[in-house]
Amino acid sequence: MAEADNIFLKIARGEAPADIVYSDDLCVAFRDIHPQAPTHILIIPRKPMKSLNEATQSDETILGHLLWVATKIASEVGIAETGYRTVINTGPDAGQSVFQLHVHLLGGRPLGWPPG
Ligand code: AMP
Repeated sequence: MAEADNIFLKIARGEAPADIVYSDDLCVAFRDIHPQAPTHILIIPRKPMKSLNEATQSDETILGHLLWVATKIASEVGIAETGYRTVINTGPDAGQSVFQLHVHLLGGRPLGWPPG
């Protein structure tokens, strides 16, 4: 699949529909179509990055930005105090299914640990 055809990159470019909750120059955040918790939001860089494995030292700013945006959204949707989880699945053993780096922001219910 060509990089441009990646569904998350299409969402970032406004070429595919999504329930967008936050957007800026570096990233876009939108609701997961198969939510695993009352709040389940994905935060992706606009820069094409297949997974965390592609990150280099020059990506430190964008990686930090994704987490900062997660905290901002968590506060805005009202889960900052009750708690939430941020997850980045990388590669087959983690079950990554969409190959554009994304941070899952999950909350709104008690989350089990360890994950499956
Ligand atoms: P991962 O398994 O970490 O790669 O997670 C991919 C996530 O993307 C899953 O939770 C899917 O439900 C979600 N997803 C896939 N396609 C879309 C889409 N078009 N809009 C929103 N979420 C999506």
